[in-house]
Amino acid sequence: MQRWFASLSCLLMLSATVYGAEPQPKVLFIGIDGCRWDAVEAAQTPNINALTEQGWLAVGTSILAPHETKGDTVSGPGWSNLLCGVWPDKHGVLDNSFRGANYTDYPHYFARIKAARPELLTASFTDWDPLKDKILSAADYAVDLPAHGAADYAKKDAELATECADYIRTKPVDAVMLYFGQVDETGHAKGFHPKVPEYVAAIERVDGLIGQVREAIAARPNIQNENWLILIGTDHGGVGTNHGGGRQIPEIHRTFMIVSGPAAIKSRTEEDSYQVDIIATALAHLGITPDPSWKLDGQPRGLKPKPAAQ
Ligand SMILES: [Zn+2]
Repeated sequence: MQRWFASLSCLLMLSATVYGAEPQPKVLFIGIDGCRWDAVEAAQTPNINALTEQGWLAVGTSILAPHETKGDTVSGPGWSNLLCGVWPDKHGVLDNSFRGANYTDYPHYFARIKAARPELLTASFTDWDPLKDKILSAADYAVDLPAHGAADYAKKDAELATECADYIRTKPVDAVMLYFGQVDETGHAKGFHPKVPEYVAAIERVDGLIGQVREAIAARPNIQNENWLILIGTDHGGVGTNHGGGRQIPEIHRTFMIVSGPAAIKSRTEEDSYQVDIIATALAHLGITPDPSWKLDGQPRGLKPKPAAQ
């Protein structure tokens, strides 16, 4: 009788292990080019608000390394910091010429995912060409819709969101990058400022597109067994109609990051964080421990501590 009871207990424990398996971690990184946080606060952004309420919001995210790297406050270095997880003294990109880029030693983080977990499915949706042409590597699926000017970026951003939402709704994807260019383009045309109606309106349109993608995640057939982390970041802010040469201007070099989902801590912080932290956070959520040879500069931020392994 005792032996029968022991066997039954073992069976129940085994069932609990199978059916109580950890939900599968998934990551969506949404990049909004040239987005000032004070303008997000001035805008009507129900989707970004919902994400910050369900997660960690940092409003002291620096686009500059704590050490001197000579990277300009423009998109090339910014997106390289964000997507490769290292500073310009490693990835080599100091401006939008991409001269000196070393994406061989410091590749896009999809390459890190593939090195650690080749079975994970990655997808990228962008409309600023250099993201796909220069930085992206190892994506299983990539959509790039080249855009020119604020109105065209608004149109292409909307098409990207639709494509991204369709992909997320139907494919067993694990890591997604979705980029929006219209906020930066509108800033260059009309001004980067919370009192510029066109700039704020661009942020509101992007918020609506984020809503489409959130709905797609919620509609995934196996969503109850998945653990999505949504990250939002930007490459720089802006002042007037520009942002280059802004290493001394907080409205340009001090930005924000959002880490949202069941795995995230719920809080808002002004403490220092860095662009390179976003990819460190994505990898940590996916359960990937960076190899020391990758020499990543960031730290995971805003995640709840994982329970210790038994
Ligand atoms: Zn930019």
